[in-house]
Amino acid sequence: MNDESSNRTPGDNPARELLWTVERNFQGWTCSQCEWNDPVPTLLKDPDAKTAYDRLAITKFRKHNCADHAIRLPSAGAESFTVRIRKLVSKGFKPKDAVELILQEVSIEYPGQPKVLEQAKQEGEDFLRRLRAGLI
Ligand SMILES: [Zn+2]
Repeated sequence: MNDESSNRTPGDNPARELLWTVERNFQGWTCSQCEWNDPVPTLLKDPDAKTAYDRLAITKFRKHNCADHAIRLPSAGAESFTVRIRKLVSKGFKPKDAVELILQEVSIEYPGQPKVLEQAKQEGEDFLRRLRAGLI
């Protein structure tokens, strides 16, 4: 049995995760444990600029203290496509295959809704880009 109190700095919460979140009024990074968030401009198109934003968000995320923020309540909305892709990857799918699979699922789940598919594609591209940049 490990001593859970060892190797831990005060305020550090190893269970917390940096999550990519897309909602109707928000796009950006959130913490899995608290209401900390870091919005990303929706109009950002340049991949390098996006990666720079991601790096900044990761730094801010590491510095924030969950205790300073309200506790995150379970979201009533659907899981983001990014969360679904990550779940597949954690099950052993190759990232590219996971993105492909989610896109196929989305086109079945949302027939005739090109905007939703576009959103899923964008999240898939962002996911692979972050992977390549070594951010996640
Ligand atoms: Zn937090």
